[in-house]
Amino acid sequence: MKEQNEINSLKSKISQYANAYITYDETALDSNRRKIVELFYRAGKIIDTLFLKQAYSKNLEILAELKKSQKELDKLRLKYFEINFGPFDRFDDDKPFIGDLQKPMGANFYPDDMTREEFENFIKNNPEKEQDFKSEFTMIRRQNGNLIAIPYSEFYKKELTELNRILVEASAFAEDQTLKNYLIKRAEDFLKNDYYESDIAWMDLQDPLIEIVIGPYEVYEEKLFNYKAAFEMFLTIVDKEETNKLKLFESYLPAIEKNLPLADKYKKFGSRGLESPIKVVNLIYSAGDTKAGSQTLAFNLPNDERVRKVKGSKKVMMKNIHEAKFEKILKPIAQKIIDSSQLPLVAFEAFFNHTLMHEISHGVGPGIIQKNWKTTEVKKELKETYSKIKECKADILGMYNNAFLIDKNVYPKEFEKNIYVTFLAGIFRSSRFGINSAHGAGNAIIFNYLLEKGAYFYDEKNQRLSVNFDKIRETIRELANLILTVQAEGNYEAAKIIIDKYGVESETMKKIQKKIVDIPIDIKPIFQIEKGSNL
Ligand code: ZN
Repeated sequence: MKEQNEINSLKSKISQYANAYITYDETALDSNRRKIVELFYRAGKIIDTLFLKQAYSKNLEILAELKKSQKELDKLRLKYFEINFGPFDRFDDDKPFIGDLQKPMGANFYPDDMTREEFENFIKNNPEKEQDFKSEFTMIRRQNGNLIAIPYSEFYKKELTELNRILVEASAFAEDQTLKNYLIKRAEDFLKNDYYESDIAWMDLQDPLIEIVIGPYEVYEEKLFNYKAAFEMFLTIVDKEETNKLKLFESYLPAIEKNLPLADKYKKFGSRGLESPIKVVNLIYSAGDTKAGSQTLAFNLPNDERVRKVKGSKKVMMKNIHEAKFEKILKPIAQKIIDSSQLPLVAFEAFFNHTLMHEISHGVGPGIIQKNWKTTEVKKELKETYSKIKECKADILGMYNNAFLIDKNVYPKEFEKNIYVTFLAGIFRSSRFGINSAHGAGNAIIFNYLLEKGAYFYDEKNQRLSVNFDKIRETIRELANLILTVQAEGNYEAAKIIIDKYGVESETMKKIQKKIVDIPIDIKPIFQIEKGSNL
């Protein structure tokens, strides 16, 4: 009986992830690039293993056991293990779904039984070792009762030497010099245990088709101190059409800045351009850290502040992942909560355009401001309210600026309705991940404000939402003005009031969330490159 309960519980956990077939246009690649992609796919498999090892000390043993077993329960466990890269549920606070194991806060980057105090005391007593111990690229282990730091290049020597070999082999097929340069430098850096040179080379990557990231990057897997970087890979192909669309948007930046609903005295007319260059790509294969649990829609790298200082950072958005989440999550949500008369207006094109414009909108509006006759930054003045207000701004301006481009005849007039209705449904996708996240709160502010002002309508009878097209444009303008003014004045108190009043899960939101609990929370990618095209 107990086993049956576990089987049922695992089945329902697995069903939270909708299988999504991740495709790309293979025919766009010439034979050399195909060879590179093939090699990178092999590199991705190594990255998967590296991350399994980093995430939990017993991962490989458990995986081998599960693979041997023929029991139904173990097959389900294996499936969920593969989604989570370990026996802990990433959607449920890392609770174990096999036995009563417990995931160490520091994952496998430190000895399982090491405490925060032990680490801190060690550094206090051995200050000359602080840098090595806090490095993103060392493992901490115990030797004769003492802590030691071992560079990744030594600890994972076998895997990193193999990665070095694969990248060097791939570089021989690269015709584009910037790609060749990146591959050679990254291959070297795997052995040097210092990724600076190749991060710089990555910022210069200009291959018209291949966009690839491979290495240790994010530090969130290590929850003890957030020091240690986990291995991941994104192998992608550039989407030319969307990249051209972005260029078009960028050319409108000065006009967009000028058109902001903000008092002239607060406007900066010199364009500061995009916060970071944006590329739109389609994912071919992802590996390691990024694939565990929920799937990333976009990434902004590198994290190394030294590189950011010289080169800035690059934002890469994956169109086919957006498409998969739209089909498997957003559309089913819309079908349950949007009034049937407006349902046909929910469209992928609108969803993706909004996402692009959201990113572009981060780069417009107040950044460096004047307050009390002093030069300061929005970020410093708004303190902990900053990121919620910032995400709210990007979303509200995403709509506002798209409407502006429609006025400029960049899109047909009818597209405006698609944008508003698709965004409304999207609010309930984003806010599922918690109203306290920057994106969740930003969305809640928009929803509750627009509902209060009558730009959104909730029909109690059929429990569905619709957009009031007579009011929406003006209300968006009003809210955009409010948010931009808070930023321009660095008005912390006003930001708090807005968040306390609107950035909360209102009763209406709760009712709507209840209707969509059964819809998958995320996708489980099934890669074309792995399964072939006849799935
Ligand atoms: Zn954002």
